[in-house]
Amino acid sequence: MQQKIDEILNYVKGKMAEVKTSADCQAVRVEVLGKSGKLTELFKLMKDVPAEQKGAVGQLLNGAKQAAESIIAEKETSLAAAELQQKLMSEKIDVTLDLNAEEIGALHPVTLDFMRMCDILTGMGFSQIDGPEIELDKYNFELVNVPKDHPSRDMQDSLYITNDILLRTQTSNTQPRAMEKIKPPFKVFSFGRVFRKDDLDATHTPAFHQLEGIYIDKKVSLATLKHDLSLILKKYLGDATKIKFRASYFPFTEPSVEVDAECNVCKGKGCAACNGNGQYEILGAGMIHPHVLELNGIDPNEFSGYAFGFGFDRFPKIRYKIPNAKVMFSNDVRFIKQFK
Ligand SMILES: [Zn+2]
Repeated sequence: MQQKIDEILNYVKGKMAEVKTSADCQAVRVEVLGKSGKLTELFKLMKDVPAEQKGAVGQLLNGAKQAAESIIAEKETSLAAAELQQKLMSEKIDVTLDLNAEEIGALHPVTLDFMRMCDILTGMGFSQIDGPEIELDKYNFELVNVPKDHPSRDMQDSLYITNDILLRTQTSNTQPRAMEKIKPPFKVFSFGRVFRKDDLDATHTPAFHQLEGIYIDKKVSLATLKHDLSLILKKYLGDATKIKFRASYFPFTEPSVEVDAECNVCKGKGCAACNGNGQYEILGAGMIHPHVLELNGIDPNEFSGYAFGFGFDRFPKIRYKIPNAKVMFSNDVRFIKQFK
């Protein structure tokens, strides 16, 4: 019996010299002291031991059990401590480390100005909708009363991808898209990039931003349009800004108007920002042509509506005194950083 016990304890010592982790220690513990462990098997022999020797053998076995356990536990403790140390090292957080706070970007001046406009329009009951920049000819032209043979469709101006698909030339494409999805009455606006075949210079860019507003309801009139636009522009440009409506022509509205605002830099005297005119043209608008309503499944005898469209880049250009339209689309971070 003593020999067997010595063999087992030597086995345990040998194993403990090899093991690398506390989990390995546990495996040896099970192997020796578990339910059918090497040492546990010896305890099962107790029943065959003569009664007068049971006490001595029992003592021997219990002593062996404690010895095995303490050999394993000692190794296990030292391994666990090393493992904890390693874990702490690998997950170490250096609270003194200078993180050099991640640089936060700035919003583009067009976005900043649009956010102001967005507040005004939503405050007046408009909801924002979106339209695709890559658009079908149908939505960009046909459904807003610009059929294939219309003179205002100058092929030189539009960037076609195929015969039927182009980069939208105006946010007016959201008019038929809105009328297709929403039943009147509705009041919506849309903002985004539009594209023309323009060369890049101080005042032109091949991509620019437009904002489109649409209101369709019963009894919407030119008076409604004039009232709403005056309110929007005064909120946007300042209460004192003088606004002038003049008759114009667009294929998708009848009657059509253009709106001029007094230059807010020179207050009408004439300066570089307004090309010396003292005022600048800010938007086109009008009553949605009854034919456009009809083309989009709305009965013009029941409903009427207005639409307006801003070329939007002009405002941040004036507000932030940006001399050249080119830089607005230059992707130069030094330009954007100024608007923090
Ligand atoms: Zn001016």
